[in-house]
Amino acid sequence: NAVVHWFKWDLRTSDNRALCLASEKARKAGVPLIALYVLSPQDFDAHLTSPARVDFMLRTLGVLKTDLAKLDIPLWVEPVDKRRDVPGRVMELMAKWGASHLFANVEYEVDELRREAKLVRECAEKGIAVEPVHDTCIVPPGQLTTNAGKQYAVYSPWFRSWIRHIHENLELLELSDPPGPNPTSTRALFATLFDCDIPQAPESKSLSVEEAKRFRALWPAGEHEAMKRLGKFCEEDVGNYGNNRNLPSVPGTSNLSVHFASGTLSTRTAVRTARDRNKTKRLDGGNEGIQKWISEIAWRDFYKHVLVHWPYICMNKPFKPEYSNIEWSYNKEHFDAWARGRTGFPIVDAAMRQLTNMGWMHNRCRMVVASFLSKDLLLDWRMGERFFMEHLIDGDFASNNCGWGFAASVGVDPQPYFRIFNPLLQSEKFDPDGEYIRKWVPELKGIEGKAIHDPYGRGAGDRARKAGYPKPIVDHKGARARALAAYKKGIDSG
Ligand code: FAD
Repeated sequence: NAVVHWFKWDLRTSDNRALCLASEKARKAGVPLIALYVLSPQDFDAHLTSPARVDFMLRTLGVLKTDLAKLDIPLWVEPVDKRRDVPGRVMELMAKWGASHLFANVEYEVDELRREAKLVRECAEKGIAVEPVHDTCIVPPGQLTTNAGKQYAVYSPWFRSWIRHIHENLELLELSDPPGPNPTSTRALFATLFDCDIPQAPESKSLSVEEAKRFRALWPAGEHEAMKRLGKFCEEDVGNYGNNRNLPSVPGTSNLSVHFASGTLSTRTAVRTARDRNKTKRLDGGNEGIQKWISEIAWRDFYKHVLVHWPYICMNKPFKPEYSNIEWSYNKEHFDAWARGRTGFPIVDAAMRQLTNMGWMHNRCRMVVASFLSKDLLLDWRMGERFFMEHLIDGDFASNNCGWGFAASVGVDPQPYFRIFNPLLQSEKFDPDGEYIRKWVPELKGIEGKAIHDPYGRGAGDRARKAGYPKPIVDHKGARARALAAYKKGIDSG
């Protein structure tokens, strides 16, 4: 007999709700706990998981396996080719191990919910208990509604309600205990499970040697690294977060998104750690940097709530259905220029090169390049959403889809479509000295002063041309007018 915890994107032992419950169940029943991870290459393909993200996950599994082994808990990694076979394979393993209980944290995306529903149904027929647990959001989806009983579609009132709900239910911020050790006899009983190797990445998701080296140096994996980064950020930077968070040349944000997305750190732990440095226990009081950081973490919860209530956003549909009829340009050359960081708009190009180099992009720049793609280039926002997922190490469906929806004005955002970022003004405001641009666009390194933001428009065209930097591929003013007309036409025809 045994109890199983199925790891997904919750790759940590500390403050893991389902793992903690599984461990308690096993202890009370006097049976061992087995940890399972199902590796489905078809899932990676279907969800456009980037090779950097797969590599991070595999490295994390290595850390997890070592940590669990110290507690005599085996971690078994099961490769399953076809994702529709996942529930069946989990049940086969449960039967093979004589396990009667399966614990797992819920993933809210449509494919995952369908998979879980199938598993719960089939397990029930076989007398196996499945315990799906809310873990990834601080406030589980479904808890917050407006006075009229509806789901919030606007962040600010939702956030006030989120704060209120946490203050009234402080147990939401209580951390779960790490799993306790298995009886040492587990080693002999399940010897083959302890021998399980962490597999290589599937062919379609493998990194080149150079990429692996780069990503591994940039993003050390596992929960201990997450805790180190969190500690350092809360020690050194969170107080100034409000001032620095919009400046891409300043390392003023936490860089923890990869850990939240992989589940190597829980947002509860992050919020508690920040709150404990504040002079008040309230999440909306005291140090402004801390408050602001907590409110950004809340965006992650908000978007997951949106996903649960409007699941059609998982099916390539815009949150606002009336924006379904916009005639996008689908200009391949424009898309390629955007993707390669060759648009002639330095801030856009710097950001896109940061993405492909690091697997990460600064939030301000994510907004700038998303607005540029959907408005200035009038390209279908889903092309950009897809490219992001294929390259981000922190790719998370809800945050990415909703971030794109927001920037392209088709998502959860009360602002109408005529909010169009001017890339030049964004550049001047958020990268005033051009430091970020010079770092990522070395062709422009020698250009000084304000010309860095628009070399061809500000007298540095010859230098830029000689260095091989392209001219702007569109004129912002004209592109803006074209976008406004296309959006209006699309909505009117809906
Ligand atoms: P910090 O500023 O330190 O913030 C702390 C945490 O709060 C982040 O790690 C993240 O979990 C959360 N957070 C902050 N801002 C947002 C936000 N706007 N939306 C949702 N959560 C937020 N974030 C992802 O984790 N995965 C994505 O795939 C993703 N795609 C995005 C696409 C677009 C077009 C946009 C505009 C934003 C996207 N974001 C995404 C949100 C945000 O850009 C990143 O979370 C942030 O840049 C990560 O850096 P950080 O950890 O240093 O953030």
